[in-house]
Amino acid sequence: MALSTYPLLEIDLRMIERNTEVVLQKCNSWHLHPVVVTKGFLADAPLVSLFYQSGIKSFADSNLDNLLKIKKLLPPGVRLILIRLPMKEEIKEIAAEDIIPFVSHWEIVEALNEEAKKENKVLPLFLALESGDAREGFLPEEIEEMGDKLNKFSSIKIEGICSTLACLSGILPDEGILERLIVFKNNWENKWGNKISLSVGGTTFLSLWEKDENIKGVDEIRLGEALLFGNDISRGRQINWLERGAFTLKAEIVEIKSKEPDMRREKGFDAFGEPNFPPATGKRKRMILALGKQDSDEHQLYCSDENAKIIGATSNYLVMDIEDSNRAYKLGEVVQFQAGYGAVLRAFLSPYVKKVYRW
Ligand SMILES: *Cc1c(COP(=O)(O)O)cnc(C)c1O
Repeated sequence: MALSTYPLLEIDLRMIERNTEVVLQKCNSWHLHPVVVTKGFLADAPLVSLFYQSGIKSFADSNLDNLLKIKKLLPPGVRLILIRLPMKEEIKEIAAEDIIPFVSHWEIVEALNEEAKKENKVLPLFLALESGDAREGFLPEEIEEMGDKLNKFSSIKIEGICSTLACLSGILPDEGILERLIVFKNNWENKWGNKISLSVGGTTFLSLWEKDENIKGVDEIRLGEALLFGNDISRGRQINWLERGAFTLKAEIVEIKSKEPDMRREKGFDAFGEPNFPPATGKRKRMILALGKQDSDEHQLYCSDENAKIIGATSNYLVMDIEDSNRAYKLGEVVQFQAGYGAVLRAFLSPYVKKVYRW
């Protein structure tokens, strides 16, 4: 049992429900099937149920356990996609539980085919395509050279091809990248004679449809950030047709004092091995909150008091400069922040942060 209420993450379900409704309408008019990506909140049941009840029937996660959790929670018939390349020990489970994986090696396709054969089923999967981020995916030449490989795999079915951008290198999708993917899909369908899906993600792809509603040939879009945060961090923009502020992180002030780092001492690195040399400022009023890097990401916390500045964080403290603030903060008071994607993910991963859902 936790002794204290804080730190606490409060989640506004109503706001996320409204965002989901709007995204569903948009996707409908764009002829796109929306897939909700649940890795940002560990596929926690209240949110998964809300998405399902709003009409979402496809879920994707980078963690197999999260997908199995969704499978237990929801009625049969939901589509579950593993968007992280499988590890070898996961292959059996993927086949047994009808999870649709992303794959980028023929050895893995072969291993999945063997497992599916044992299970007496035909397993759908996505071939990941490298399209610029230099992260996961088959290289174009590997696909060109595959020849008749696919005919060997009688127990798998290529459900589609997929592309992910803006995650590692920050490469943004543009019309050219989309066009290449669509051409690839069309050539594939002509060659093999069966329809496949083209799946793109994540939120960064939305801009392309906002610019041109008539894009044809893409079947589904995988979204996390847009639905949860109404943001597209890859383009540094707020999505003006969605709402922001569904996640509020609250933490308690455990110290308020005027202090300054002792600049006469030798300087090393901070507790996380980063150089962190503060400028000389003289004594300034600081407050310390019981919230650390273990619970959140201080770079994605936004305080409504513009004059209260986050100086930094240790494993278990958040230190803020409030010298210029007009607010009279008090010891024991609770301060709240709007939390971004990384901050929320870490809060969900921290057993120290309580989660409270509100309607
Ligand atoms: C995280 C992720 C997404 C969702 O991205 P958002 O920016 O949260 O919308 C989509 N596809 C893959 C493969 C991912 O890892």
